[in-house]
Amino acid sequence: MLDVTTATVSDRKALRINPAKTCQPIGAMYAALGIHSCMPHSHGSQGCCSYHRSHLTRHFKEPVAATTSSFTEGTSVFGGMANLQQALVNIFSIYDPEVVAVHTTCLSEVIGDDIPTIIKKSREEGKIPDGKIVIHANTPSFVGSNVTGFSNMCTGIVSYLAEKSGLSNGSINIFPGWLDPSDMRELKRLADALTVPFTLCPDTSDVLDLPQTGVYEMYPKGGTPVASIKGMGDAIATLALGEFTAYPSAQKLLDMHAVPFEKLDAPIGLTNTDNYIDALRRLGDVEVPAWIDAERGRLLDVISDIGQYFHQVPVAIFGDPDMVVGLTRFAIELGLYPKYIFTGATGRAFETRIKELLGDKYPDTVVRHGADLFELHERIKGEPVKLIFGNTYGKYIARAEDIPLVRFGFPILDRVGHRMFPVVGYRGAMHLVEKISDALLNHRDRTCAEEWFELVQ
Ligand code: SF4
Repeated sequence: MLDVTTATVSDRKALRINPAKTCQPIGAMYAALGIHSCMPHSHGSQGCCSYHRSHLTRHFKEPVAATTSSFTEGTSVFGGMANLQQALVNIFSIYDPEVVAVHTTCLSEVIGDDIPTIIKKSREEGKIPDGKIVIHANTPSFVGSNVTGFSNMCTGIVSYLAEKSGLSNGSINIFPGWLDPSDMRELKRLADALTVPFTLCPDTSDVLDLPQTGVYEMYPKGGTPVASIKGMGDAIATLALGEFTAYPSAQKLLDMHAVPFEKLDAPIGLTNTDNYIDALRRLGDVEVPAWIDAERGRLLDVISDIGQYFHQVPVAIFGDPDMVVGLTRFAIELGLYPKYIFTGATGRAFETRIKELLGDKYPDTVVRHGADLFELHERIKGEPVKLIFGNTYGKYIARAEDIPLVRFGFPILDRVGHRMFPVVGYRGAMHLVEKISDALLNHRDRTCAEEWFELVQ
């Protein structure tokens, strides 16, 4: 399928082939689903909304509801105000959400629709019922990526909803960045264990990982309640877990309500999870329960058991930047050799952070932002790796080069069950170790010479 790819890395400035990212509104839609009783609304044509919904549905294997302004040729000429106003009337009367979270698309951005003015006018004209909320984020897809869209909607959530009463509520805000629902559930499990009062925002657990009951709920019990989001301005601090998907909204909350924030990487692997636990311990002035220490110890035991098979194994990692940063640190902890570290998102901060993690021990590692999978394949053809970490799109390279792929990040469109198992925390790290060792050793069992085929590893 990718037979024409050569081992020569071509110099391209104005062309991306299979970019390692997708478009902004998908991220905005996903972030909005993390508010309780919220309807994401796509201000653009139907095709954008259909694509974004289906992409999320295919990853989470859950029906993702979202509405659209349903632009036509006329809208492109005269603007989308009438469509959005009619949409708001219809959404509140038919679907009755507590919040509508509007995000823009390429077309509405090119037209230049002024969403705050449309929301204001709609409220003045009684098109938004009393007590209902409309928020928005600008998500033009000709810049940025799904990561930017997620971050912009998180910043919109803070801008519209966070309030400050002047009385501290003693709580900690946890901004998880773009993680799966199982990861958010794991972050909450650990924070609960430390008995720290907290608000996780957004929170897609119990929204996109629902049990099968046979009954469809448009607004399931999950999602961060609006009342909790309003209280975020009274928190003692914010933990922001990821430079690209969490820092901007934490910065917004600092600017608006002077809530200080701590910057952490996504808590993937040993050290990153240690940092998360330690920050909760310090900020909450609490003790870490013994069973969390034991869980950490079990992870250490698994790592030491498997270390001989991971030592200096060259790997490629691609995906969204915060996830890749977290995983790169864990790969180093496991003794793997990160050879190629790619993200499709743009931002020199990615390269800076990765280079900090690598230090001077990996002089030939190629780190790229704004990158595509074509270049990754070219490089792997030139100097192969033994394992690829990435989303479903990595399967083409994996098949072409017969390299095992550990599915990681978003989207995973061709497997089920992944969304139920976290990659964050000590338990998530143990799950990752199992996936890595299964992939590596299965490949070795399948391809090694007979005299190396061992029953016991
Ligand atoms: S790139 Fe723009 S036009 Fe295409 S689906 Fe995304 S928002 Fe819509």
